[in-house]
Amino acid sequence: MGLKLLNTLTRSVQDFVPLDPSGKNVGLYCCGPTVYDYAHIGNWRTFVFGDLVRRSLEFHGYNVRHVMNITDVDDKIIRRVKETGGTLSDFTGKFEKAFLEDLAALQCRTPHHTPRATEHIPAIVDLISRLVQRGFAYQAPDGSVYFSIQKYRGAGCCYGQLVHLNFEEMRTGERVANDEYAKESLADFALWKARVPEDGAVFWPSPWGEGRPGWHIECSAMSMQLLGPSFDLHLGGEDLMFPHHEDEIAQSEGTGLQPEGQRFVKYWMHGAHLLVEGRKMSKSLGNFFTLRDLIAKGFSGREIRYLLLTAHYRETFNFTLEGLQGARSSLQRIDECIGKLREIAAGETAGADDALVRQLSKPLEDDLNISGTWGAVFEWIRETNRKLAENSILPAQAASLLASWEKIDGVLGVGLPSAAVVPAEILALVEARQAARKAKDFKQSDGLRDELKAKGWVIEDTPKGARAKRIA
Ligand code: AMP
Ligand code: ZN
Repeated sequence: MGLKLLNTLTRSVQDFVPLDPSGKNVGLYCCGPTVYDYAHIGNWRTFVFGDLVRRSLEFHGYNVRHVMNITDVDDKIIRRVKETGGTLSDFTGKFEKAFLEDLAALQCRTPHHTPRATEHIPAIVDLISRLVQRGFAYQAPDGSVYFSIQKYRGAGCCYGQLVHLNFEEMRTGERVANDEYAKESLADFALWKARVPEDGAVFWPSPWGEGRPGWHIECSAMSMQLLGPSFDLHLGGEDLMFPHHEDEIAQSEGTGLQPEGQRFVKYWMHGAHLLVEGRKMSKSLGNFFTLRDLIAKGFSGREIRYLLLTAHYRETFNFTLEGLQGARSSLQRIDECIGKLREIAAGETAGADDALVRQLSKPLEDDLNISGTWGAVFEWIRETNRKLAENSILPAQAASLLASWEKIDGVLGVGLPSAAVVPAEILALVEARQAARKAKDFKQSDGLRDELKAKGWVIEDTPKGARAKRIA
């Protein structure tokens, strides 16, 4: 069976078939961060979901071109730049850097392209010009350029493909200048925003005068420039369905650049939101976490990634600190088992067990049913631990199990435990304790044991010597 995905466009689970006639190349666009602050863990749930989609496609042998834009100009950014008094790029550069560091900490594969909106102004202007030429966009008395929903629909095009819209309520010619608005405020939306004094030094020239792009057109321009006018997959959080993605479809298909019979995007996917302790994440409730907040509490990017990947991407997921403790224990179970297999394999190599890889990866083929895969992984860990307790695993078998896990981990991306997982400082303490015991200096050896305990580690004596183990 191949990969099946729920397409928001058709509201059905469909076989994934790339547009590329050779069936190999896949274009994937994930709406990236607006770099006005550190991304919170709700944002991270969506970005980790994007990474899971990419890894699943690569696991199935596709050659993926992954694009994630950086929104480095918008209303919120301009407001903050004014508050800080610096330049636009100084301000956004800091958060872009932090974003890419956090992406790596969460063990996400680096997108092949991370285009910045401010570096694609000519492509954005070209798209708007095309829309004006085709009669789908107009300059309003305020100097801004808007997309005309009436003209678009009048030409037989469908606006309201990802969400159902009530056009009865819509008053022709009504415009919305903000990038974010609700379905109830359905109106012509801004493609180019005329310069206003509050924009300060943030503006570019255009055929319609100085100004800056709207948020939605940025994604249409960058995705089509890097992946072509028609590409395979586009994803983001569920809040982006309307108006962001709906507007992207209208603008992109309004250009008429797609080959006959092809859509702007073949498959749209949307990830559900993350709640914190059962409530919407907000600064005022004090339940707002960035990745850095959690790392400062002693959790690793790997543990946070694991937790974010425990629920199906379309289910609302409730984040708790206890859940994060649970993620730590689950990963320790995996690490211990893999660690023991490594000891037995002792450097021997072998091919993966295809039947096992298939058993563990199969649930993911069904619209990324990750809970099914975790269930299969822990069943396999239980079974392997039983065999390990019986000493019935030979080095070649251990090597093959390791190779199989490595393949599965190519999708999950929780990483392989290695000696490096135990920090050098802890390894040094373990060695010092061994030396003290050998010298029968029990006072010193007990002191070192306590020091390790205070740092969250215990020593396990195994036939192959002492080993440090993290306290769960
Ligand atoms: P932004 O930086 O605000 O443009 O958001 C980046 C991504 O995070 C978008 O795909 C949003 O849909 C997503 N997002 C925002 N809030 C949440 C949340 N609470 N849970 C999951 N995803 C979210
Ligand atoms: Zn976007």
